[in-house]
Amino acid sequence: MVERLMGQQRLPCVGSGADAHRFGPGDHVTLCGVRIPHSHGLIGHSDADAGWHALTDALLGAIAAGDIGQHFPPSDPQWRGAASERFLAHAASLVRQRGAEIANVDLTILCESPKIGPHRAAMQARTAEVLGLSPDRVGIKATTTERMGFLGRQEGLAALASALVLRWP
Ligand code: MG
Repeated sequence: MVERLMGQQRLPCVGSGADAHRFGPGDHVTLCGVRIPHSHGLIGHSDADAGWHALTDALLGAIAAGDIGQHFPPSDPQWRGAASERFLAHAASLVRQRGAEIANVDLTILCESPKIGPHRAAMQARTAEVLGLSPDRVGIKATTTERMGFLGRQEGLAALASALVLRWP
């Protein structure tokens, strides 16, 4: 994992992210940029894409650059209804501006519904496209919480993300 260039080692730096959004009126959710038909929508200031919000925080975390709320304050009306692709692309661009490289990312969606499986490949492809990564560097997983808690009661959905970034010391 540790690469060497001109005697210097690149340091693997991990970042993690989490996000949750509440279900509300609507007929689809947007996860990893993919429109998924559902009995409810997700409430949020932007498009409420919890997957990409968690991933954005994981990338920012790996370069110690704060969190999504600092870069895109919910109080700022210009982000109302914003496509989360913008947030994720911004984080990836900050990583590259620092001469760093994303090694891989991994995402877990937590929800009882909608079923993620049928959309997994599309979510993986879209995320890889935005990050400029090969799809085999993008993990997309899903789990339920066995009907426990707010996720089990289907009050909303949540996402957890990890990112590994190779940085110069
Ligand atoms: Mg969010």
